[in-house]
Amino acid sequence: MAKGTGDEVFAGTINGTGALRVRVERDASDSVIARMVTMVEEASRTKAPTQLFIEKVEQRYSLGMVAATLAVFLVPLAFGADLTGALLRAMTFMIVASPCAVVLATMPPLLSAIANAGRHGVLVKSAVVMERLGQVDAVALDKTGTLTEGTPRVTDIRLLAGSGLDENALLTLAAAAEHPSEHPLARAVVDAARERGLALPAAADFGSAPGIGVTATVDGYAIAVGAPTRLLNGAVDPASVRAAALAEQLQDGGRTAVVVTADGRPIGVLGIADRLRPDAATTVMSLGALTGTAPMLFTGDNPRAATRLAAEAGITDVRAGLLPQDKVEAVRARERAGRKVLVIGDGVNDAPALAAAHTGIAMGRAGSDLALETADAVIVRDELAAVPVVVALSRRARGLVVQNLVIAAVFITALVVWDLAGTLPLPLGVLGHEGSTVIVGLNGLRLLRDGAWKRARAEAGA
Ligand code: ADP
Ligand code: MG
Repeated sequence: MAKGTGDEVFAGTINGTGALRVRVERDASDSVIARMVTMVEEASRTKAPTQLFIEKVEQRYSLGMVAATLAVFLVPLAFGADLTGALLRAMTFMIVASPCAVVLATMPPLLSAIANAGRHGVLVKSAVVMERLGQVDAVALDKTGTLTEGTPRVTDIRLLAGSGLDENALLTLAAAAEHPSEHPLARAVVDAARERGLALPAAADFGSAPGIGVTATVDGYAIAVGAPTRLLNGAVDPASVRAAALAEQLQDGGRTAVVVTADGRPIGVLGIADRLRPDAATTVMSLGALTGTAPMLFTGDNPRAATRLAAEAGITDVRAGLLPQDKVEAVRARERAGRKVLVIGDGVNDAPALAAAHTGIAMGRAGSDLALETADAVIVRDELAAVPVVVALSRRARGLVVQNLVIAAVFITALVVWDLAGTLPLPLGVLGHEGSTVIVGLNGLRLLRDGAWKRARAEAGA
């Protein structure tokens, strides 16, 4: 719903792009917890596809079972069997043929896995997602804020001759324009200005284009800060050529370069460096081993910086210079090739790809609201290494579902055959039926234990 100046916005309201200034009137802890509660409630309300399938089949099964019970009762009677014997056999049949254990096969393993993952900092939003996570066979990771720590720092400031600005003036204009942005690069620029004790003038007309950069009016200038290729756009005037050369120089050094323009003319280039997360390389390796395909890096950043960082993380498949819709296309192309793609991202620019993916995971700490909302699961503490573990846990849960269905089927078949072919005493029938239901239920709950997470971690090789 569109909001205007003075309107009340609720906690959990999502701002697409652009900046929003809101006054906080209530304690934040209320709303954060409330949001978690809603997410968890939603998770337990959804049903896994297997469960839905079972429930559909179960309806018909139950009808068939009633008909069969009548047959088991009436057919022997017609051939002159005695009433009590036939009635007892039919009642025993109805009990042992009931699909209680089948119905209980699916949800306990999946919900237990969700609870266990939650304790280890992974919020899986639904049973559907827990079932799907284990199916992924390809991975695409975002760079800035996902593979990197998302706390980049401005390391280089290059001025363009003729702008008449010094480093502080350049940084002031850039930081003022970046101030309203949620992007990690924006925070780096603002922090650099703060460290120098620069006072930031107010910015007006703020706008941000995911994957490109920001624009704002500062001190009467129309300032833009963003990706060199997008802002310079191949312009051949001396200032643009010089800016492009400076940017390439920085990129060759593994920096992310952003160009600052005033009224359309380049006035400087900033070099920004971000560290790889400490668990990035091991995560990439175990995701590769789990899915059987080499993970792909997709980023809006330039190819030079991307390739360099990818090499450090052990990724060879690099797609750089992507806009949000290009990321979607990259994911779709893989899905068309028959892959089920897991996307891991953090930014507003990743949200469309997170939505298009078979399964999407967002970084919880540094991630933007939009990414968190769009993703199917959230790594609350930003531990990348938890991703392969939760994939392995999901596979264990799926394995348990199958195991449970087999147990249930074996019990039902054995008891039914016993009842029809021989004489199954009623108490024994009840015991076998309830016993199998309890076994299946408890079997699923095994995934609640800490040991299940540890075993999943060992399987993931993390
Ligand atoms: P990634 O896909 O690696 O997370 P983004 O798509 O968010 O990266 O950004 C891609 C490029 O767009 C950045 O490398 C930068 O050049 C430019 N950019 C995006 N947002 C901003 C911003 N707020 N300030 C400056 N540059 C930005
Ligand atoms: Mg990002």
